[in-house]
Amino acid sequence: MPIPIVTIGIDLHSSALPVTLPNIIQAVISNPFHFLFLLHPIFFGIVFGAMGTVRYNKEQKIQELNRLKSNFLSMISHELRTPLTTIKGYITFLMTEKAGAINKTQRECLEISAETADLLDRLIEDILDLSKIESGEFKVNLAAVDMTKIMDKAILSRQLFADNQEVTLENNLPRDLPLIRADRERILQVIINILENAIKFNKRGGKVVIAAAGRPSAKIIFSISDTGIGIPSDKLARIFDKFYQADSSGKRKYKGCGLGLAITKSIVGLHNGRIWVESEVGVGSKFFLELLTIPS
Ligand code: ADP
Repeated sequence: MPIPIVTIGIDLHSSALPVTLPNIIQAVISNPFHFLFLLHPIFFGIVFGAMGTVRYNKEQKIQELNRLKSNFLSMISHELRTPLTTIKGYITFLMTEKAGAINKTQRECLEISAETADLLDRLIEDILDLSKIESGEFKVNLAAVDMTKIMDKAILSRQLFADNQEVTLENNLPRDLPLIRADRERILQVIINILENAIKFNKRGGKVVIAAAGRPSAKIIFSISDTGIGIPSDKLARIFDKFYQADSSGKRKYKGCGLGLAITKSIVGLHNGRIWVESEVGVGSKFFLELLTIPS
């Protein structure tokens, strides 16, 4: 509005006319530009209003597409799971030799099949988690959790893998740590992800150490360090991205699909915690996990 008032004012002033209603009407009629100036807020209103509607429609469409994508992923994952469970069941059954004795080569084939089926199962689980995270359906159920027990459980579940890789697991957590606010299942999933990587990317005869860094207060920092291959500094920032793998070459020897740390980071975020890593190539990596304690 001020622009048309100023232009009419300038017009009247330059014609040495007093600012009266008849003079203003005369100025507007005699110069069509004043009309345009007077109407410009309406034009802007129409244009910005239309842009707002377009953006709103676009956001609605994106939300709808995300919902469809998430439904599709969860449907596909469930459909893949059912036959996979049958395959795994038969592999286990054959290995018990209840259907007849198997020779060494046959056992090796079955072991590889079982391992591959497990990998596929993990991939499906990760895709399901990711689709839930992206659609906002992934929820955490926060309660008082004893991290020492969670670490013990995580170690127990990966001890066999560590033994096969000839990696020693060491739990140096003090037994009197304050309880933390966490979802028991989800925080176990986080620790297992980090621990499994620390074993997988380690060397034969290597070590993984779990410890608490700093003094516990309203927060505790846990650390999981390994003596593995390490991560190049230019790749450190990206390892929490989905599908990112520091070594994505065709001759890559480590199994996985690059979703574990992306899911881990999202879960830690839902706990209002933080996760970060320090690493040196050829020396090892140290993952830090900061979580909130329960106020006593
Ligand atoms: P995945 O293990 O399935 O490849 P993740 O999301 O768990 O996927 O990890 C992403 C990448 O981060 C890995 O492919 C690897 O390059 C790197 N990484 C993660 N943990 C470690 C570790 N402890 N030591 C070396 N590299 C690691």
